[in-house]
Amino acid sequence: MKIVKVDTNTPYDILIERGLVHNCGELIRGVSNAGKITVITDSNVGAVYADTVVNSLKAEGFDVSVFTFPAGEKSKNLGTIADMYSHMADFRMSRGDLVVALGGGVTGDMAGFAAASYMRGINFVQIPTSLLAQVDSSVGGKTGVDIAQGKNLVGAFHQPLLVIIDPDTLNTLPEYYINDGMAEVIKYGCIKDEKLFETLEQENALDIIDDVIEQCVSIKRDVVNRDEKESGERMLLNFGHTLGHSLEKIYNFDGLSHGQAVAIGMVMITRASEAAGITEKGATERIAALCKKYNLPVSDKAGTKEIAEVCASDKKAGGGSVNLVLLNKIGDSFTKKTPLCEVENFINV
Ligand code: MG
Repeated sequence: MKIVKVDTNTPYDILIERGLVHNCGELIRGVSNAGKITVITDSNVGAVYADTVVNSLKAEGFDVSVFTFPAGEKSKNLGTIADMYSHMADFRMSRGDLVVALGGGVTGDMAGFAAASYMRGINFVQIPTSLLAQVDSSVGGKTGVDIAQGKNLVGAFHQPLLVIIDPDTLNTLPEYYINDGMAEVIKYGCIKDEKLFETLEQENALDIIDDVIEQCVSIKRDVVNRDEKESGERMLLNFGHTLGHSLEKIYNFDGLSHGQAVAIGMVMITRASEAAGITEKGATERIAALCKKYNLPVSDKAGTKEIAEVCASDKKAGGGSVNLVLLNKIGDSFTKKTPLCEVENFINV
């Protein structure tokens, strides 16, 4: 079993091994003497894994209940959170009890937020089942929920007690979602690890996904350790995300997946910085080729003007400038504070 130790103010382990979901009860018993556990999952993941998880937990003597919500981003709202609170209160969960988040990013964000706020905070364990959640959401302690005015506008930092990653859960994940997660994997190579990037070029990532997940969470762990509340270095994790987020907005978070938008964002920003003489020549071509290898798009019909405008209106609160994440070369990144009025000119190449 691979173990990645996350040393935040409340340290925890990320465990990675195929088949782990079957042993989750034992693993959770090792870190918790809770009496009751509410497993929070969505209708898709719950249909496949809830019984396995519940049986494993019960075998360790936990009193278990399951809260299932309809799969999809539309469920990510305060109404669902309120239903979670009611469920936990009806189940008479107390301060020493535990939430298990079983599913992808939406489940982890919401279950984490419910755990962060129920009775002013109880422990939770993450069992992320999508590639995106495994490489991205299992480190950092971000939890949250969407409101009408925007995504993730309400939330809290709340570190899990344990993260259990079973790469076998990816076998039941549709390819679209694998590719969605691969954009974040490629991002980690771009910002911090040229070797990882080369490995992704040479091999089929899915064949060595255990190693790939371990490397990604280790990179994120190192970045977050140095910057727990997101001020400096953690911004590097936003590589491809500034323009990507603007694209997601243009399509109302419906036409493009997060990973697809990030892939286009990474290629677009690197093309601009390469043209400006900042990034080593050839980097854009390599990133684009790698994204294509994992069936991710590298361009979009939305023009640089529209993207820059959305970016500017989005970032106004930041005081007239935006921190663009750029590469010196693949594996080596930095942030560049750029006035919003210069973004369009910069990316229009
Ligand atoms: Mg992301």
